[in-house]
Amino acid sequence: MSAEYFGIGMTSARTRERLIRRLRDEGIRDLRVLERIRETPRHLFVDEALASRAYEDTALPIGNGQTISQPYIVARMTEALLEPGSLENVLEVGTGSGYQTAVLAPLVRRVYTTERIKVLLDQARRRFQALNIRNIVTKHSDGGVGLPEYAPYDGIIVTAAPEGIPLALVEQLNPGGCMVLPVGLRDQQVLVRVIRTDDGYEREILERVSFVPLLGGVC
Ligand code: SAH
Repeated sequence: MSAEYFGIGMTSARTRERLIRRLRDEGIRDLRVLERIRETPRHLFVDEALASRAYEDTALPIGNGQTISQPYIVARMTEALLEPGSLENVLEVGTGSGYQTAVLAPLVRRVYTTERIKVLLDQARRRFQALNIRNIVTKHSDGGVGLPEYAPYDGIIVTAAPEGIPLALVEQLNPGGCMVLPVGLRDQQVLVRVIRTDDGYEREILERVSFVPLLGGVC
């Protein structure tokens, strides 16, 4: 690793604080979430060429037509997932760079994360190892059908947008469990929180968002 690379890590303390201030201004209140954003080295989740922009509040490309989510969205989704109550096991659909996974993992007992693009998943796995985060189980699969082998989950977070709420995912939630996901086509998407009830689910629309689509199959 080059000295310049370490340099980015050193100077990032200030830029990270600026990011935290911005997230507070944008309405993120959960101190556990803000602390995780402060502690998680986002520059290690993007290509070295983009590392200097890692603490800007923007999505960035991660290859294969995918993006690492904007820090505000990661914070907002994590906060919305944790709000209804404490979580033991959580399913994440769409590992991507692994940044959302790394932010969330220390706040719950275990995260099961699934990604359909193998090269992205392999990179994310290496990052989890390098950061010594041990409570993440990774799976190369189509997460649109959930991950039945470890179900039911207390929480599900989906970081790519289906056109509607996937019932297969709702069915893998414990009663009272919570799912946070973007829903809809690209320019009309909303972030939705779903709470599983005994006879179905309740949903709450949180805000407008823009995510890559949830696709089927693996590659
Ligand atoms: N949380 C990630 C976001 C990555 S973008 C991050 O911050 O880096 C969304 C990811 O969802 C992409 O990597 C995409 O390949 C993945 N994805 C899309 N459809 C999927 C599916 N059906 N199953 C698993 N992953 C999927």
